[in-house]
Amino acid sequence: LTTADLIEDHRICVCVRTRPLNKKELTMKDLDVITIPSKDVVMVHEPKQKVDLTRYLENQTFRFDYAFDDTSTNEMVYRFTARPLVETIFERGMATCFAYGQTGSGKTHTMGGDFSGKNQDCSKGIYALAARDVFLMLKKPNYKKLDLQVYATFFEIYSGKVFDLLNRKAKLRVLEDGKQQVQVVGLQERDVKCTEDVLKLIEMGNSCRTSGQTSANAHSSRSHAVFQIILRRRGKMHGKFSLIDLAGNERGADTSSADRQTRLEGAEINKSLLALKIATISPGMASCENTLNTLRYANRVKEL
Ligand code: ADP
Ligand code: MG
Repeated sequence: LTTADLIEDHRICVCVRTRPLNKKELTMKDLDVITIPSKDVVMVHEPKQKVDLTRYLENQTFRFDYAFDDTSTNEMVYRFTARPLVETIFERGMATCFAYGQTGSGKTHTMGGDFSGKNQDCSKGIYALAARDVFLMLKKPNYKKLDLQVYATFFEIYSGKVFDLLNRKAKLRVLEDGKQQVQVVGLQERDVKCTEDVLKLIEMGNSCRTSGQTSANAHSSRSHAVFQIILRRRGKMHGKFSLIDLAGNERGADTSSADRQTRLEGAEINKSLLALKIATISPGMASCENTLNTLRYANRVKEL
């Protein structure tokens, strides 16, 4: 099956979310260049200047499965993206939900919850919302009788290496088995009995992710975080949901420390992103170029 087939029969869904301008952008007097005129359309109004210096807005329109404006909540985004995939894993499927976009556009806020302020709150992120519904689904008679066990893993991919966020960042080996399935050797699968258990793991993993980093954002902008919910029946895998907070997709030239190592990392990240489709966008005019890159990229899937 090609990507186009998968989209055609709704097996890949591409959604875009914008956020409100933040304090920094407001202080810089940045302008919001995004509008969401309907539930599946994103418009970018890019200020331009003609040779005779007259100013005009160049409007570009993109269509997706869903577009979420800056008043949308994580719960709403969740309902249209990850929620249907919770059903998938109960029906013995494998599902993946990626957040793709520029650093600062809201990937972690959407997936993990809010880790930016003093009151760290992961209870409203998509990881937690998915976990909540997994435990609700377990109570349904049809699934209850299967006697499924729930496990969680949380790891990070940085510079091509894998680190276990639930085991003091132990470096893990990745092997491809005979069936071309990728195995992360020694990855800790934690037994979870309720949403609270999952919240504790997310907090633990997140503090592990950022510990020892001079700047949490600089690090997370260059690493992918993978949170998985695994259903097992008599020890055998029944379903698996991977929720992925990707590294920032901005071009090397836009990053503040554009040294060689950083640019190489950027190239590596972009290579690993080529196979994926998805997106959050920053509303600011200053982010226009990155935003258009993200939308064109996410949109490319639709044009296949
Ligand atoms: P990323 O993970 O893409 O680099 P973050 O999720 O860390 O971006 O978001 C950057 C900042 O913007 C954080 O302070 C976050 O709390 C805030 N933010 C992101 N999305 C939203 C939103 N939808 N509403 C309000 N604030 C948001
Ligand atoms: Mg982030």
